[in-house]
Amino acid sequence: MHLTRRELLHYFGATAATGLLGPGCIGWTREEAIPVDSWHKSVCRFCGSGCETRVGLRAGKVVKVEGLQEGWNRGRLCIKGLLNREILYVSDRAHYPMVRKNGQLERVSWDEALDAAAAGFREAMAQGGPDAVAFYGSGQLFTQESYTANKLFKGGLGTNNVDGNPRLCMASAAFGYKSVFGADEPSGCYDDIEHATLFFVIGANMAECHPVVWERVRDRLRTEPQARVIVVDPRRTPTARDATLHLQIRPGTDVALLNAMAYELLRTGLVDPAFINDFVTFRRGTADSPPLTLEDFRAFLEDYAPEKVANLCGLSSAEIREAARLFGISQAALSFWTMGLNQQTHGVAANRMMMALHLLTGQIGRPGTGPFSLTGQTNAGGGVRDTGSLAHALPAGRVVTKAHDRQDMERLWGLPEGRISPNPGLSAVPLFEAMREGRVRAALVMATNPARSLPNADRYRVGMEKAFLVVSDSIFPTDTARYADVFLPAAMWAEKEGVLSQSERRYHLVEKLVEPPGEARSDLDILVALGERLGHGALLKARTPEAVWDEWRRVSAGTTYDFSGMTYARLKALPGLTWPCPTEQHPGTCRRYVPGEDPLAKKEGRIDFYARPDGRAVVYLSEQGPFRESLTSDYPMTLTTGRRLEHWHTATLTGRIAQLKGIDIDYLEIHPGDAAVMGVKEGELVQVTSARGTVRLKALPSMRVRPGVVFALMHSMEHLVNAATSDYLDPTSAQPEYKLAAVRVERVKEGT
Ligand code: SF4
Repeated sequence: MHLTRRELLHYFGATAATGLLGPGCIGWTREEAIPVDSWHKSVCRFCGSGCETRVGLRAGKVVKVEGLQEGWNRGRLCIKGLLNREILYVSDRAHYPMVRKNGQLERVSWDEALDAAAAGFREAMAQGGPDAVAFYGSGQLFTQESYTANKLFKGGLGTNNVDGNPRLCMASAAFGYKSVFGADEPSGCYDDIEHATLFFVIGANMAECHPVVWERVRDRLRTEPQARVIVVDPRRTPTARDATLHLQIRPGTDVALLNAMAYELLRTGLVDPAFINDFVTFRRGTADSPPLTLEDFRAFLEDYAPEKVANLCGLSSAEIREAARLFGISQAALSFWTMGLNQQTHGVAANRMMMALHLLTGQIGRPGTGPFSLTGQTNAGGGVRDTGSLAHALPAGRVVTKAHDRQDMERLWGLPEGRISPNPGLSAVPLFEAMREGRVRAALVMATNPARSLPNADRYRVGMEKAFLVVSDSIFPTDTARYADVFLPAAMWAEKEGVLSQSERRYHLVEKLVEPPGEARSDLDILVALGERLGHGALLKARTPEAVWDEWRRVSAGTTYDFSGMTYARLKALPGLTWPCPTEQHPGTCRRYVPGEDPLAKKEGRIDFYARPDGRAVVYLSEQGPFRESLTSDYPMTLTTGRRLEHWHTATLTGRIAQLKGIDIDYLEIHPGDAAVMGVKEGELVQVTSARGTVRLKALPSMRVRPGVVFALMHSMEHLVNAATSDYLDPTSAQPEYKLAAVRVERVKEGT
């Protein structure tokens, strides 16, 4: 069965070509009524937009999922939101724990599986010390689960080898925010969309990857004819089709473009001198480097005049000047970005420069303004970034390298001083390299599929094969589960209870509504049971989702993340709350740093960057560094990757849904001119080869990509594009450069 997008939507009862489902969308047709016993509030378990849902139950099963009218998404869901129901009932859900015996995974009891997992960890630590073990988590775990795993490994086992898949998608944004504002996470909220007059979208295909947020942008465009959209993307995506100005940039040159825009804003005087004077400082490299002046910054930008970088960026200087002009004259500029900006070796520099454009123009802290990175997974922000479940971090903005932060957490966790290691652990890619080399001997992988999602994936599978691997997942078999020594079946979404947070810093409670299949357990239960067996039961005193949440609220108190006022009762009653929210009376904060709105902003005046020691946000002098991988005669083209509307990330979940199986995901978009030179026609098999590996895909000649660039989806199980993607890392954030790999593309001769 091959379904076109329109046929698929028809199947689900909607005809909107956007793939949006919900009352209020063009062409919406309600599904035939399904009897429902009771309705319950919940949140979509897929992307970081965090669409609010109501879930219909009948006879203990989820039978219907709709957008919540009172939610920020106004009743809308995209097709993936609707599939929250289907994903619970795919045929290969994992039901039983398994242990590898004689090379095969065999069903065992929970006790036997957990004993085997604990024995594997104990043996690894006996041989190699605490840093011989690791936790690799996910933005799909609830906040309570990531928090508990972080506590068990950093506070209990004594290793900072705690990282997760948000390192692959969000790390450059997290490091960008922290270095510019002193605290991670965006400053604004979705309500800003209704006030913006310019949307600057860079490295984000929102129409497909954050479609409900994008539909809210389109609402604004429909009601405010003066509103403009600039899209910066090497591909003519569906998002770019809505653009006033589409800059079809050469991949990996965003820093040069943003510097050129800064140059042009300063040259034309479209900046806010009073804001710069009062609230901004200029630095190079790190946040504690000696302060520089606006004139130093102006001199630095001389090398980035639009005509000097236009060729590098693959744009005209007029396009760059126009982008700067539109940004500078707009009454309210709101920027959105995601993996396209983050997944490169200059990801932190690009994030810093995106934030710098807002600081130079004073486009922050007012309705409709601000830098706003979007999150890929449901709970990458709330679960992993906020709880500090990354190798360098501790909860609520603390870091392992600061003695005061470690002591704070040791006190809060009831640990002796010195228990938490001062050494940052291994981040995602180095962690799997350490498994390959035998330095990390045992790892717990939860709710993620690194065998498919890591760049240069074939290399790191060797590590998974060598290490003692405990995998907790709701689906079996994932590619990673094939390497597991112990496999633990996990509950997902409405089969367990927990809190998650989405792109606008809004925390939601997801209640348990149905029983998990077979013997599957929540990841929190699994962590507590494993912690007990490893001798850390006393550390994990909080064992229920509510108890862990209450502990997490106490840990956040007094920090720049303060969630103290978000009680369970409030989360149950409300469609989420945005932080900071320090008291039970506080309604939640839409715009951070704004006195009168943000309870932590104490100074009078326009803005208070209270997380920075001097109260000033930092504009960095950020170089467009050289490409880590140059184009050569062997590898003359650039491969970039992305997603399409119907599937989510590596399609570990959506790829199992019968109704989506017919959707073509195994194609390579190639410019028609390049295809003609190669003599490749539509549908013919081509081989894409990088210095790391190859993938075979069907050629799709398309004007969507610029000459010299090819695009592939990251979803396919059979045709793994991550065999070829680059594992070069941003030197600050350690995020890999998925968006830029030098490749050659060759026609595959029949029979080879
Ligand atoms: S936009 Fe994201 S959160 Fe909303 S329904 Fe679609 S996948 Fe779910």
